[in-house]
Amino acid sequence: MRRLSIRLFLQTLEEMFPDAHCELNHSNPFELTIAVLLSAQCTDKKVNQVTEKLFTKYKTPEDYLRVSLDELQEDIKQIGLYKNKAKHIQALCRLLMEEYNGEVPVEHEELVKLPGVGRKTANVVRSVAFNIPAIAVDTHVERVSKRLGFCDSEDTVLQVEQTLMRKIPKKDWSDTHHRLIFFGRYHCKAQNPQCGSCPIQDVCPTWKKVHKEQKKVSSSKRNK
Ligand code: SF4
Repeated sequence: MRRLSIRLFLQTLEEMFPDAHCELNHSNPFELTIAVLLSAQCTDKKVNQVTEKLFTKYKTPEDYLRVSLDELQEDIKQIGLYKNKAKHIQALCRLLMEEYNGEVPVEHEELVKLPGVGRKTANVVRSVAFNIPAIAVDTHVERVSKRLGFCDSEDTVLQVEQTLMRKIPKKDWSDTHHRLIFFGRYHCKAQNPQCGSCPIQDVCPTWKKVHKEQKKVSSSKRNK
């Protein structure tokens, strides 16, 4: 089987999703941080519905600290895990006020100190809000990287991130991160991937495996 080179894959991604971008609505690094925090286990569409009102009511970290936890929970209750997320938002805003003059820090090690902010969120904020090359590994990026054989199926999220950073030229990290998300969200979906119309089907190890199994099943049916 022909192996899929990173160069061919990046080219294919660019052709398929030239305008891939962050789909969380925001107008500054602070709003993006809140939106990414809310997006854990929730669709971007739902987050955008909620933040449309939320970002009108709350514009600064102080605004989130002026209200009670109950009120903030009520304002984001359409989002999964809203109780914990509201707690994280208030703790994050408190830390921003105490340590960072109310601003979202740029450095990765500072970002991950913020409550509710892990590696993925920090990478999204750095890449999207501050234009710093980064690859954030979410569920789509992880699945696609493993299906295509760029990473081992047992690799952790951190290992996937490190492998992709090693294989992809740094100048392409941010664009590729968005395109990988679009590829996983709209094409190589978790359920029902669009293998039939996939431009890299002939070099995809997952498709090859599924195809082989299907052939085996139909030949054993024929022989019965
Ligand atoms: Fe994903 Fe299927 Fe394409 Fe492989 S052939 S990359 S599994 S859509």
